Amino acid sequence: MTRVVVIGASVGGVTVAQSLRELGFDGEIVLLEAGVGLPYQRPPLSKAVLLGQDPGTADLIDGPGLMAIGVEFRPGARALGLDLARRRLRLPGEELGFDELVIACGASATVPTHLEHLVAGGAHLLRTREDAVGLSDALEQSRRLIVLGGGVLGSEIASAATARGVPTTLLSRTEQGVGPLRGALSAPLLPLHRAHGVDVRTEVSDVGRVAGGWSAQAREGEVCADTLVLAVGVHATADWLADSLPVGPDGIRCDASGRVAPGVWAIGDAADRAGGRHEVSRRTQAAAVAEASTVAAALVGLPTRPAALPYFWSDIHGVRVQAAGRISPRAVIEVVERSVTGDPVAFVAAEEGVVAGAAAWGSPRAFRSARSLLGTSGVLEEIAR
Ligand SMILES: Cc1cc2nc3c(=O)[nH]c(=O)nc-3n(C[C@H](O)[C@H](O)[C@H](O)COP(=O)(O)OP(=O)(O)OC[C@H]3O[C@@H](n4cnc5c(N)ncnc54)[C@H](O)[C@@H]3O)c2cc1C
Repeated sequence: MTRVVVIGASVGGVTVAQSLRELGFDGEIVLLEAGVGLPYQRPPLSKAVLLGQDPGTADLIDGPGLMAIGVEFRPGARALGLDLARRRLRLPGEELGFDELVIACGASATVPTHLEHLVAGGAHLLRTREDAVGLSDALEQSRRLIVLGGGVLGSEIASAATARGVPTTLLSRTEQGVGPLRGALSAPLLPLHRAHGVDVRTEVSDVGRVAGGWSAQAREGEVCADTLVLAVGVHATADWLADSLPVGPDGIRCDASGRVAPGVWAIGDAADRAGGRHEVSRRTQAAAVAEASTVAAALVGLPTRPAALPYFWSDIHGVRVQAAGRISPRAVIEVVERSVTGDPVAFVAAEEGVVAGAAAWGSPRAFRSARSLLGTSGVLEEIAR
């Protein structure tokens, strides 16, 4: 019987297992997970658990659900190494053979060397459910929070903390940006944070420990807080495979279908997919799900499906931010819809006159409308008229 081993039981790994069964795969599926507990997804960690909601809201699938799809789920089983020639994985105290291997081991919070002492001194990170519970508990007592990092995760944390009444300082680079929405596309972010009382500071020169907490120096002056969280980026959790597979700075290199080597596949945040990766499709839940479905289809011998439209969303201060398609740095950005007060709501990103990407702030309807322009031309000329 064919044995598929999946490394990582988050949204990518669980979707592979579910898709395989839906497509009629009747072989063995072993789902390895380094963490403990049931599989969960990450978006609710910053959008619900940090607000004090039950950590169970992040659950992806329960025990009976895993049994129903006939998956051997192994929590606490961290894959330590891969012997490609012998088609075996090294686990703590044993080896596990596979016919097909799907690597869905995701990403980890990045802590640059010069910031390591902050984490050693008690600064929080946010990647796992345990991180979210720890930070949520800290917010319960906190008199001020400093968030280091003004990207999507830092913005979501600031949003949750202010919603819980914790005065929050967000330390950001000068240029504001949320996920793939940078430059003109991120214009609504700064006023949104300020309207919700977030103290946004830039040009941070120093962050360190002081009696009773933390201090940070920024262009706008010094700020002190009793809670600090770092949200300065993520990197693929792929170092452990560097001896056996092509691993680069963006993760495990694979072709457009996710294939790394014969019988070895990579998906989601761990994968550095040829050609198809750009800002909107990088490290998003939608990308992990789409890539999992593609690999499952390939494993049962179905033709590779066309790639799904890249999609990203976030919720910041109750405002839904959405983007789809391709938004490259060389795209021309145009506002296609404004609010009654003249604030930009929906944008398109055009390359050589053709709309390649769409984004909107706080209006799923405006987003649908902007997204419907994907692939069209002449939009920019119409706006200019
Ligand atoms: C707080 C937060 C909020 C987010 N919000 C959004 C959002 O609003 N919208 C959006 O599109 N995306 C969001 N994301 C990103 C999204 O969650 C990721 O893109 C998605 O989780 C990637 O899924 P994955 O399965 O590839 O990897 P991961 O979710 O990172 O899961 C990888 C799993 O593999 C396990 N693992 C790692 N190494 C090993 C090993 N050696 N052996 C066994 N198991 C291993 C890990 O423990 C982990 O459970 C958010 C992420 C975070 C952290």
